[in-house]
Amino acid sequence: MSIERVRGRRRVAAPVPIRIRLRHLLPCLLALAILAGTPALAAGDALYARALETLGGADRLRAITTVHERVHAQNFEPFQNRAADGPPNHVSDSEIEILWQPAMARFRIATRIETFHPFHAFYDNLEVFDGKRGAREGKDGFRPSPGPALAPARAAAELKALWLGHPALLMAHADSVTRLADALDAGRRLAVYEIAAADALWHLAIDPDSALPAKVETVERDPVWGRVANSYRFANWRVVDGVRVPFRREQTVAPAPARAAPRPYADLVGRVVLREIALDPPTGPDAFTIDGVPSANVPRGDLWAWGHGMSHWFLRRAAMGGQADEDQSQTIDFLEVGAGLYQVTGSSHHNLLVVGPDSLLLVDAPLYPERSRSILSALTRRWPDKPLSHVVLTHHHNDHMGGLAPYAAAGARIVASAADLGLYREMIRRTTGTDPDLVGITEKGQVPGFARPVAVYAVPNGHAFDMLIVHVPDARLLFDSDLYSPGRQAQNPQWARELYDAITYYGLDVATLVGGHGHGTEPIAALAKLVGE
Ligand SMILES: [Zn+2]
Repeated sequence: MSIERVRGRRRVAAPVPIRIRLRHLLPCLLALAILAGTPALAAGDALYARALETLGGADRLRAITTVHERVHAQNFEPFQNRAADGPPNHVSDSEIEILWQPAMARFRIATRIETFHPFHAFYDNLEVFDGKRGAREGKDGFRPSPGPALAPARAAAELKALWLGHPALLMAHADSVTRLADALDAGRRLAVYEIAAADALWHLAIDPDSALPAKVETVERDPVWGRVANSYRFANWRVVDGVRVPFRREQTVAPAPARAAPRPYADLVGRVVLREIALDPPTGPDAFTIDGVPSANVPRGDLWAWGHGMSHWFLRRAAMGGQADEDQSQTIDFLEVGAGLYQVTGSSHHNLLVVGPDSLLLVDAPLYPERSRSILSALTRRWPDKPLSHVVLTHHHNDHMGGLAPYAAAGARIVASAADLGLYREMIRRTTGTDPDLVGITEKGQVPGFARPVAVYAVPNGHAFDMLIVHVPDARLLFDSDLYSPGRQAQNPQWARELYDAITYYGLDVATLVGGHGHGTEPIAALAKLVGE
C-alpha cells in the first residue's frame, strides 16, 4: 500500500469515504446498517470496530496512561550506503528504555547506542520531556552536544515516532477516522483508514483476516525525495495485560508517490524488537525530569513543526551518531582558503566555493534545502554579478546532497558520479518538478562550461563507491568530503589512506587540503604524516 495508490484507487474505484468521530462509531454503524445501501462500507466499519475489540477494546486502550518499554533497534540508513542503488547501511544498534504518557505528551527515553558508521562508538543519552519543558543528558553522537536543553525538533520527532510505533493507541486517541479504499499490500488486501490523531494524519492498514493493524504510515518531508511515507509494519502480536501488542516492527521511509519499481529493502530504516513492555506501571513525580539537569521550555513553534514534519530525518541522523536537531540554516561564513576559493562554513557540513571569471561553482549541497536557500542568498549579496552555474556532488550520502533542490531550481548544472545520475534526476524531479542539467563523471573529468579549470576524480574507497574529489589546479587545492577532514581530530585512517593513494595515483599537484567537514586548511604533509608516508 502507498498513500498515492490509496488516493488513486479512491479517485477511480472507492465509494465516497465517510468521516466518523470515534465516540460516534457505534451509532454510525447502526445508521449504516439501517440504511443498508452501502454494504461494503458497513462491513469496513465493522472491521474497524472488530480491530479495536481484538486489540483490547476501546475503553481498555483509552485507559492506558503510561507505557514502559525496553526495545532493541537495528538502525539502517539507505543514504549512507556504499552504492546509491545498494542495500541500506546498518549504521547502529540501540537499546532503548522508554517511558511514555501519550495523552500528556510526556516521555523519558534512555538510549544506549553502538554506532558502526561513520565511526565505531558507544553513546549513552537520556532525553526527558514533560509536555512543556525538556532536558537531555549524556551524548548521542560524535558531534558536541549543544547542552542540556532538549531541541524542539528532537522532542517533536520523538513524540511522532512513539505514536507511529503504537497503532492501538493511535486508534484509541483518534479525533476522527475516515475509511479509504482498500489497498493491495504484498498480495494481501488490507482495509485502509485515515486517522486524525496527535496533530497528524495517519494511514492505518488493517488485515481483515486477523483484524490487526498491519501497517501505519504518515506522510513527511524529506530533503531527498520531497514527500515520503514514513511507515511501520507490525508483526509478532502478543497479549499483555489484556492488550494486543506487536513485538516486532519494521520501519521504511519511501518516496511518495511510490517508485514505478519499488525497492522496499533499500527503503529500510529500522527493525525494532520489543524486549519488555509494562502498561501503567507506577511512575514517580520525577519520572520526566533529570536529577541535577535544568529543564528548559521547549517551544512549539517553527522548530517543533520542523521536527514533527520530518521526524524520520532527525532520528535517522541521531541513529548514526550525527544528530542534527539544531537549526543549521542561518549561519553562513565564507572562509578564504585560496585565491577566489572559500570554505562555506557555519554548520556541521561545508561546501567549497570556487569563484570563476563570470560565475560560481559550489561543491556539495549539505543537509537540507533551508541551508541551501540561505547560501544562495549570501552568494547573491556578495557576488551579485556571478550566478551559481555549477554544483559538484562528492557522493550520494544525504548529508552532502540533501540541499540539492534549491541549487537545481536556480539553474545550476549538476556534476556528479555517472553512477548516481538516475538518483539525482529522480530527486530533482520529485522536489522541484523540473528536469535537471546533469553531467556524469566516470573516472575523471573537467567540469564542463566553467571558465576556471576544476577537475574531478573518482576515489576507490570504503565510505562510498561513487566518491569524487575536486582539484583546483591553479591554487594547488584539493577538496574532499568524509575521507579526510582537515582541522578535525577524529579521522578514519582507512579512508584517509584511500584519499592519499588516489592523489598519488592521479599525480595531482596538491599543496592544500580542504574538507566538507573540519575547519580551514591543512597542508598535504599532514595527510601524508597521518598515513605514514
Ligand atoms: Zn558520506
